[in-house]
Amino acid sequence: MILLFSGTLESSLAASEQDYQKSRDSYLSLLGSSQAQRKRHNWLNVIARFEAFIASAETGSRKDDAMFLLGRTWHGLSKASGSRDDAQQAISSYKSLAKAFPDSNLADDALIFAAEIATEIFNNQVDAYNLYLEVTTILPPGDMLELAQSRLNKLATSSSAPTVSTAKTLTSVDKSSPQLDAVRVWNSPEYTRVVLDLNQPVDYESHILKGESPRIYIDLKGALIANNVAKKQVAEGIVKTVRSSQLDSSRVRVVLDLVREGDYQIFTLMNPDRVVVDVRNPTGSSRKQVEIKSLPGSDADSIAGILNDVPENSVPNLHVPQHNQNDGVNLIVVDAGHGGRDPGAVGKNSTREKDVTLQIAKKLAAVLRKELGCKVLLTRSDDRYLKLQSRTAYANKVGADLFISLHANASTNRNAYGLETYYLNLSKNNQAAAVAARENGTSLQEVGNLEAILFDLMANAKINESSRLAAEIQRSMVKHLSPKYSRIKDLGVRQGPFHVLLGATMPSVLVETAFISNGREEKRLKNKDYQTRVAQAIVRGVKDYTDSLKQVARR
Ligand SMILES: [Zn+2]
Repeated sequence: MILLFSGTLESSLAASEQDYQKSRDSYLSLLGSSQAQRKRHNWLNVIARFEAFIASAETGSRKDDAMFLLGRTWHGLSKASGSRDDAQQAISSYKSLAKAFPDSNLADDALIFAAEIATEIFNNQVDAYNLYLEVTTILPPGDMLELAQSRLNKLATSSSAPTVSTAKTLTSVDKSSPQLDAVRVWNSPEYTRVVLDLNQPVDYESHILKGESPRIYIDLKGALIANNVAKKQVAEGIVKTVRSSQLDSSRVRVVLDLVREGDYQIFTLMNPDRVVVDVRNPTGSSRKQVEIKSLPGSDADSIAGILNDVPENSVPNLHVPQHNQNDGVNLIVVDAGHGGRDPGAVGKNSTREKDVTLQIAKKLAAVLRKELGCKVLLTRSDDRYLKLQSRTAYANKVGADLFISLHANASTNRNAYGLETYYLNLSKNNQAAAVAARENGTSLQEVGNLEAILFDLMANAKINESSRLAAEIQRSMVKHLSPKYSRIKDLGVRQGPFHVLLGATMPSVLVETAFISNGREEKRLKNKDYQTRVAQAIVRGVKDYTDSLKQVARR
C-alpha cells in the first residue's frame, strides 16, 4: 500500500477519524491557496481545529498525525509571517509530538523540522544539535536517521570552526536580505537542474567560463547564505560539483563545475522563490532540447495557481521535454515496493506487502524480457530497504525508458478490493491529493515543500505518456484477470503527487495489484498463479503502450 499511516478498524473510532480527516482537509486546502495563506486568521483556524482534535482524541487515534500537522501549520505560518513567536510554536508542537509519541513514525520528522527551525530562525546550534541527537539516540531508528547523523557531524565540526562569524552576520543582518536556504540538484540524461531555494526574490547575474575547466557561476546580489547549505555538493551528469559560498558581505556565489561545456538556461520561480539553472548535456542523448524560455506568468507560477487553474484530468501547460518516439522502449526498471525495515501493508494473515511485491516484480521482469525482448532492471532483488527517492533516481541513472512500481493496496475497510494504477500529477482531485499528502507525510524531509519540489519536477515528468501507460496497464489487468478470477474490480487510473514517482524523467506508473487488507485478495497476492497472471497482464499493457508509440512514430 502507499498509505504510510496505519488506520485502526474499530468503528468506534470512525467519528474521530472523520474529525481528523476534516482538520487535515482544511490544512490541505490552505496549502493549496497562496491567497488564503496571506491571511493570518486562516492559519489560526486550522491550528484551532487541530488543537481541538488533539484535546479530545484518544491516544493512538491519529493523535500523533494531528500533532505533526499542528507543527506543520505553525511552521507554515511562521514562514508566511516571519514571526519568531510562530516559529517557536512550531518547535514546541514538534517537540511535544516526539515526547508524547516517541514510537510514532512522525517523531523523527518532527524533530528534524524543529532542529531546522532552531538553526535557520534562531541560529541556535546547541538546540539543533540536541534535537538531532535525540533522533539518533532516543527514537527508534527511522528513515531520518542518516540525515540526522550527517547534520550532527556537520554541527560538531562547524561549532569549533570560525563559522560563528557568518552566523553572527545572519542574525544581526536586517531582515530584508535574501537568504540562500538550500541548493538542490536533479539529474536526467538530457540535463542537470540546480535549484537555489531562497526566502525572497533576489537579483542575480550568471556567467559561463569556457576552457579547460568550464564552469557556470551565479552571483546572488545582496544575499546571505544559510549555515546549513553545503559548501560543496557532488552532482551527476554534466555538472560535477556545485559549490556555494558567501563571496563577500553582500554576495553569495554558486559555482557549477562542468564536465564539459554545455548550454544553460537560468530562470526564476516564485512561491517559494527559487533560481533554477538547467545545464544541457550535449552528449547526453539525441532527445530534443528542453526549452524553458517563458514560464506561465505570475500567479500561474505557484503551485496554488496550477491547482486552481488546471481543470481536473488535464495536463499543466509546462514545457515537457519530448521523448524521441523512435527511441522505443529498450530498458524498463521494475520497482518492488517497500522492503527491509519497511514491510509495507500487512494482511490479516500476516502477508507482507514487501514480499509480495518482490515476487511479482521478479515474475514481471522475466515476462517483460521474454515478451518484449528488452532489458529489465529491478530496483531491489532481495529484502532490502530503499528510500523512495533513490528508486526513481536509479531509473534516471540507468536511463530507463519506463518505470513501473509495484504495490499492494490497503484500506481500513476490510471489504475494499480491486485494482488501480496511478501516475504522477498535480491533481485537483481532493481525495487523491489527500491520499498522496498523507502517504508522503513521513517519507520526505520536506513534507511542506512538496508542492515546490513537484513544480521543479513537473517539467521533467512525462505526464501524457505516464497517463497513457497507466491506462493501458489498468485496462489490460482488468481484461486479463476478470475471466480467471471472480470479483475483479476496476478502480481505474488515478493521479496524484506520489513520492515514489517523483523525479522520474521517463513515463512512470504505480500499480496497486490488489488489496492486501482484503481476505480474498490477500490469498491471491500470495498465490503464484495470481502473481504470474498479474505480471502477464502488465506486460500486455506495456506492449499495447509501446505499439501505440510506434503508430505515432509512423504517422
Ligand atoms: Zn505500497
